[in-house]
Amino acid sequence: MTAPAKSCWNCRYQKIGGKTFLGLCTFFATVGKDNKEIPPAVVDLGCKHWQLRPSKDDPAIEDSDA
Ligand code: SF4
Repeated sequence: MTAPAKSCWNCRYQKIGGKTFLGLCTFFATVGKDNKEIPPAVVDLGCKHWQLRPSKDDPAIEDSDA
């Protein structure tokens, strides 16, 4: 199985919101800064802080309703 391509679309830090459909990057909130708008030049490539968003089908993710 090949690793998924790195992009903001599958990054755990991307969040819907902001001024465009590209969303916000919440990585900066983890280092005490405000969320940032994701630039068009970055969204399809990701950045050095990229981390794969966990799948909701991942058995490691516990069901919050349990
Ligand atoms: S800018 Fe980097 S950390 Fe932020 S959502 Fe995109 S890949 Fe993830």
